[in-house]
Amino acid sequence: MKFKFVFSMILIGLMAACTPNKPETDNFSYTDEKFADIQMLRYKVEGFEQLSLKQKTLIYYLQEAALWGRDILFDQNGAYNLRIRKMLETVYTDFQGDRNGEDFKAMTEYLKCVWFSNGIHHHYGCNKFIPKFSETFFREALLAVDAQKLPLQEGQSVEQLCDEVFPVIFNPEVMPMRVNQKDGDDLLLTSAENYYGQGVTQAEAEAFYNKQRDPKDEQPVMYGLNSRLVKKNGKLVEKKWTTEGLYGGALSKIVFWLEKALPYADTEEQADVIKKLISYYQTGDLKTFDEYCIAWVKDIQGRVDFTNGFTEVYGDPLGIKGSWEAIVNFKDTVATERTEKLSQNAQWFEDHSPVDARFKKEECKGITAKVITAAILGGDLYPSTAIGINLPNSNWIRKEYGSKSVTIGNLTGAYNKAAHGNGFGEEFVIDNATLQLIKKYGDVCDDLHTDLHECLGHGSGKMLPGVTDDSLRAYGSTIEEARADLFALYYLADPKLVELGLTPDAEAYKSNYYTYIMNGLLTQVVRIKPGHNIEEAHMRNRALIAHWVYEKGKEQNTIELAKKDGKTYVKINDYEALRGLFGELLAEIQRVKSEGDFQGARALVEGYGVKVDATLHQEVLERYAKLNISPYKGFINPVYVAETDNEGNITDVKVTYGEKYDEQMLRYSRDYSGLPFINE
Ligand code: ZN
Repeated sequence: MKFKFVFSMILIGLMAACTPNKPETDNFSYTDEKFADIQMLRYKVEGFEQLSLKQKTLIYYLQEAALWGRDILFDQNGAYNLRIRKMLETVYTDFQGDRNGEDFKAMTEYLKCVWFSNGIHHHYGCNKFIPKFSETFFREALLAVDAQKLPLQEGQSVEQLCDEVFPVIFNPEVMPMRVNQKDGDDLLLTSAENYYGQGVTQAEAEAFYNKQRDPKDEQPVMYGLNSRLVKKNGKLVEKKWTTEGLYGGALSKIVFWLEKALPYADTEEQADVIKKLISYYQTGDLKTFDEYCIAWVKDIQGRVDFTNGFTEVYGDPLGIKGSWEAIVNFKDTVATERTEKLSQNAQWFEDHSPVDARFKKEECKGITAKVITAAILGGDLYPSTAIGINLPNSNWIRKEYGSKSVTIGNLTGAYNKAAHGNGFGEEFVIDNATLQLIKKYGDVCDDLHTDLHECLGHGSGKMLPGVTDDSLRAYGSTIEEARADLFALYYLADPKLVELGLTPDAEAYKSNYYTYIMNGLLTQVVRIKPGHNIEEAHMRNRALIAHWVYEKGKEQNTIELAKKDGKTYVKINDYEALRGLFGELLAEIQRVKSEGDFQGARALVEGYGVKVDATLHQEVLERYAKLNISPYKGFINPVYVAETDNEGNITDVKVTYGEKYDEQMLRYSRDYSGLPFINE
């Protein structure tokens, strides 16, 4: 599971005062270009130079492996994405006509969005981008460039390519949503993702996977995680993603670089991790994947760590198929002391949580938590990324072996730095006293919220016997995120945190309560277009929590939506009562999860987490628009250059930051393309 940036960036800009950031140096800037609703940022790999040559070499090889999966994600996100990207890129680099014209400029922006989202649907909202350039322009431009550079199939003309692909780009009715979550729809037939073949219905896919599951199996593999489910002669079959199967062109490159990395593994355990991952990519065996996950959880002694694989299931409306992602990182030893305090006390938190004793873990095993420095982001973590990750996702492995939880310190730091003084808090926070509270405590509590969510929240609680991971189906992700957030919210206010020296005093948590409720009731909808519902799991979870406590606290006037000069503000009248409500909801959400209560999950999510009040939405959008802030941010990766001796041995690795967004994307498309344009 990952903890997305959205929550924290809401706080950002309010809290630059005490963020320990180093001054920007001559050739490094945290912020880069803006386009559409996006601002590009850069992150700094502090401490890389101090690593040993062996560690630098390891990171170099692992970051190559991390970059090779990009095209897999493009194809997972939609069957036409690789072709569309290639068509756009060719016009972008080779078009000799009017490059200052409105059409070319609009196409450039569209391409930047496609790069950013790894496809033609918005990375967060999942809706298809609407091109602002004309079909005529694009067709003529494609006819004017060298046809050999276009993704033509055997015997296909450029005109035919346009006829085939243009409806996907230009017709808003065709593939309108990447992931459709609308209750009542056939979620597969109405979603454009490429995890299921043509004509596979939701009922068929659910039946297919339900049949594979044995409720008595206490160690079930993640059925369906690493394959596309297609219909062949009317029968459903899985096409596995392996070095010899679907996506083999990219996966064999990943394996090549993993093999290079192997001799430089930081620990013996890590060498085992790499070997198991290679074997899994070669065979597609999900039992091997579980063995890899277990080995990965056990590898905690080393400084360098990585993930590389089919991991999160947010991109599949049924929550089964894993999108490909990768990150390479190393431990930030100073900041990790904070998270270690939490994990050392994991059992205390479990024992004192407000959930029913039947749903508590008797023994919290091996929850490790650390703050890491990201060295490279790949696949579904690039360019839009998470600020925290907790893996593996398999529930039985988490129960038996624990999980590794990380917060990515240098990315959080970059967000903070980039948002310095953007005016957001001044506009949306009710009064100066609250604003000062947030300025004083916001960063400490935001980091802690992330730590609690990742280290303890996701790792807490247990399922009743016989309840499977997917019993909440489409609502599973939202309920799981709500559970982790509520765990964090409940404990942020606990005196235990002051006692552990994690919060400075008993007031600090209020800053986080305020910004959380403000976000959930008011400001997070800046990411939603008028008239649309909330779709994304993390956003649904925040709306669910905020609206639930608002409603339950109405009689006691715990939270108000106050009006001042015609503007709406969140006013929290009773922070202690609010904590009580968080505890109540945590208990209920844990019950829903532990019992696999689908109807309960549906009532909570549909009742509190989906709908947007149209009038309030309009007001928030207008106020936000005046601030001119890009609602989404993502990162340009650093570039690693290996210096070698005459035998080809790496003698040093240098990291540089100067590459521009379009340069990086074009380089990745050129140097890390291992897949055909059509993957069937
Ligand atoms: Zn999470």
